Amino acid sequence: MLNYHSITYDPGNKAVITPELFTEQMNYLAENGYTTLTLKHFSDIWLGEAEMPKKPVLLTFDDGYADNHEYAMPLLKKLGFHATLFMSPGTTDDGYFLSWEQVKEMHEAGWDIQPHGMTHPYLTSLSKSDQAYEILEAKKQIEDQLGTTADIFCYPYGAYNAKTLAILKENGFRFAFTIEQGKTKTNQDPLKLKRIFVNGEEPTKTLIKNLEKNY
Ligand SMILES: [Zn+2]
Repeated sequence: MLNYHSITYDPGNKAVITPELFTEQMNYLAENGYTTLTLKHFSDIWLGEAEMPKKPVLLTFDDGYADNHEYAMPLLKKLGFHATLFMSPGTTDDGYFLSWEQVKEMHEAGWDIQPHGMTHPYLTSLSKSDQAYEILEAKKQIEDQLGTTADIFCYPYGAYNAKTLAILKENGFRFAFTIEQGKTKTNQDPLKLKRIFVNGEEPTKTLIKNLEKNY
């Protein structure tokens, strides 16, 4: 699981990757036989109902930056790549983040859209009922807007506690993604899945090293 955020120009911010470097990385994956997974494909592999492709990769984009629509959507479409967006519905009127109209367009282009909290809070600083609102209202709004099932969560800032896990379990969430570094493996707790953070300040060869090492 690769974890991207914003695709734009913001020197010094390692969570931001330039459109040029992002394009280079996507082309590398395309030219080197990687298969990008949908969440359905990922889930089928997890359940043993689908074969693992030789070089699987799941592209995740956190937060729902409007630049994902501008730069990632057309490129991934051109390459025939799948991707997952973890968004916070409370930010859709902001302009800096994706609007529902843009999210719908990405969904129609084949992106999986899943919740990342209503307002991207530190869940661990909230009461259980406030956490439940953040998680379940985000789930509901995505489901209402897109007519899909939004039962895969991504923890804002990677932060969760026992209350968070209880809410996810009580409400049928199947998987949840952290920011703990490493490859996603079937022996991990499905609500504590690891990902690989893509540092936008590092060259593609670092990404390749991370994709090839076993950790
Ligand atoms: Zn986030």
